[in-house]
Amino acid sequence: MSEASVAAKAAGATGSAKTYDAIVIGAGVAGLYQVYRLREMGMSVLGIEAGSGVGGTWYWNRYPGARFDSEAEIYQYWFDEAMFKNWQPTERFPAQPETERWLNYVADRTDLRKYYCFDTRVTAAHYDEAGQQWRVETDRGDTVTARFLICCTGMLSAPLSNIFEGQESFKGQIFHTARWPKERVEFVGKRVGVVGTGATGIQVIQTIAPQVGHLKVFLRTPQYIIPMRNPKYTPADWAQQGKRFSEIRDRVQGTFSGFEYDFDNGVWADLTPAQRTEVLERLWADGSLALWLSSFAEMFFDEKVNDVVSEFVREKMRARIKDPELCAKLIPTSYGFGTHRVPLESNYLEAFLQPNVEIVDVKASPIVRIVPEGVMTADGTVHELDILVLATGFDAGTGALTRIDIRGRDGRSLKEEWGQEVRTAMGLQVHGYPNLFTTGAPLAPSAALCNMTTCLQQQVGWISDCIRDMREKGLKVIEASKEIQDQWVAHHDEIANKTLVVKTDSWYMGSNVSGKPRRLLSYIGGVGTYRQKCADVAASGYSGFTFA
Ligand code: FAD
Ligand code: NAP
Repeated sequence: MSEASVAAKAAGATGSAKTYDAIVIGAGVAGLYQVYRLREMGMSVLGIEAGSGVGGTWYWNRYPGARFDSEAEIYQYWFDEAMFKNWQPTERFPAQPETERWLNYVADRTDLRKYYCFDTRVTAAHYDEAGQQWRVETDRGDTVTARFLICCTGMLSAPLSNIFEGQESFKGQIFHTARWPKERVEFVGKRVGVVGTGATGIQVIQTIAPQVGHLKVFLRTPQYIIPMRNPKYTPADWAQQGKRFSEIRDRVQGTFSGFEYDFDNGVWADLTPAQRTEVLERLWADGSLALWLSSFAEMFFDEKVNDVVSEFVREKMRARIKDPELCAKLIPTSYGFGTHRVPLESNYLEAFLQPNVEIVDVKASPIVRIVPEGVMTADGTVHELDILVLATGFDAGTGALTRIDIRGRDGRSLKEEWGQEVRTAMGLQVHGYPNLFTTGAPLAPSAALCNMTTCLQQQVGWISDCIRDMREKGLKVIEASKEIQDQWVAHHDEIANKTLVVKTDSWYMGSNVSGKPRRLLSYIGGVGTYRQKCADVAASGYSGFTFA
């Protein structure tokens, strides 16, 4: 068994060889911070990570063009000011290699790597009611137990990679963007196909279009986009950001989306059309997600407002593409701006003006299967390819957890329960699963409706404080009651159902996975509001949670 195995790590465990106070699954933004917090509390903790290194999203998504839509100064940890200041981002929205390096820097500085078993996937986690502990099994054949199991398994970490019949028959190379190899993939002169035009597909297309021989984009749903403004950051720029450390840290806790900007442009109805346009133009020029997450909140609720903002963006897109036929293919009309994830881009639309880039309309003629030569569409055409890139997204929110055989009290299965309906208590616990905590899980603010470092640190903070409080009181078991879970789901749905987001199909609603029950996966009541609600529960002595 390798040095990285669970058995080897058990040297640091308490009691019997393989028993810990807590097991944390995942070495992404959340998992690293969770291990750090528990270690600082003096607990024995084991981290388990399927990847070979730290980084989570930023370890796996090494596809061409992968980068942030969060500004470097807000995608940060807030527990160590010197750690912030001693890091030097090179630009406003750094690319994946830099973000992966940053998370390695964090892991080294905090000395967290030694708590982890890498290259190890958790396959099952069963709650032992009599022993009041979780029994965790891995694909290396290890079994470990712990009082607390904390799944920092990621909202967007379960790729939809095997979605077409015949994929194994393809004679060329096939890659899902979230399982991109570390070795360089050579595109020059190749016939390449990309399926998917979400935030990922857009980054891939704009990056490889100038390199490939011929590019076929299999396009089903066009996207609203915002052009990214991505200036370089010099050491002097970062020193300025360093001076704002406390200001930024405090600001992101309370905004709607955990970014620095917020909806503070006045009430739509109180402004003249010229004043509204002035706000939209200013935020468009910012080249960030500000137009979406901080222009007018009414855009999420009021179709008339949404129509105006959608048309504003369409007009910007038309001005770049001009060709009416391309406009019809690339500019959305069937749903409103911001009702699913809005990607930032750089020359994405212009890629389609290149003679070597072609759109295959797979709404009109869907992909039926992959054949040895390439992609077959319903009209019988075989699109011959050397490389096929699947930018087809994730089984978001639920997928990472349902791919583990998680059994709670009385042997109940999380996969079976969530197969019926996705329910959680604030995204932090699930009724029926004592001492199981989750981050980045359904019904908490999450990816895209939140700058994730903000939300994940808050969730890890709440979980850590809760465990600390339990230990101080000598309590061993916590479980969300059915009542608090029901109340949270009702509150979540009440807000979600007032928005236009629930009317649009996307991973936000689970509709990208066949048979997945429909519910908005991310809490949309605002990051500041969520934080306050979580704090209120803790201040009440965890009202709605039962203890033993
Ligand atoms: P992850 O980073 O997904 O880490 C979870 C880890 O758990 C993974 O490493 C995985 O291997 C491991 N794991 C899961 N299941 C198991 C198992 N059974 N056994 C062992 N290990 C397991 N958010 C933003 O706020 N801003 C952005 O600009 C942004 N850009 C993004 C770009 C891309 C391409 C993607 C896919 C997402 C982006 N996100 C962004 C969202 C991003 O997922 C979060 O910002 C954040 O990285 C999530 O961290 P996490 O720790 O919750 O999960
Ligand atoms: P996604 O948004 O779910 O997009 C998947 C794409 O694949 C969609 O265009 C979808 O089309 C298409 N698709 C899926 N199955 C298909 C099929 N059978 N035939 C044709 N097309 C098919 O996934 P993603 O782009 O990976 O992004 C997921 C999330 O990750 C983002 O929303 C964002 O939160 C995060 N992300 C962030 C960044 C960033 O911040 N810079 C970058 C990348 C990703 P339909 O829309 O028609 O279903």
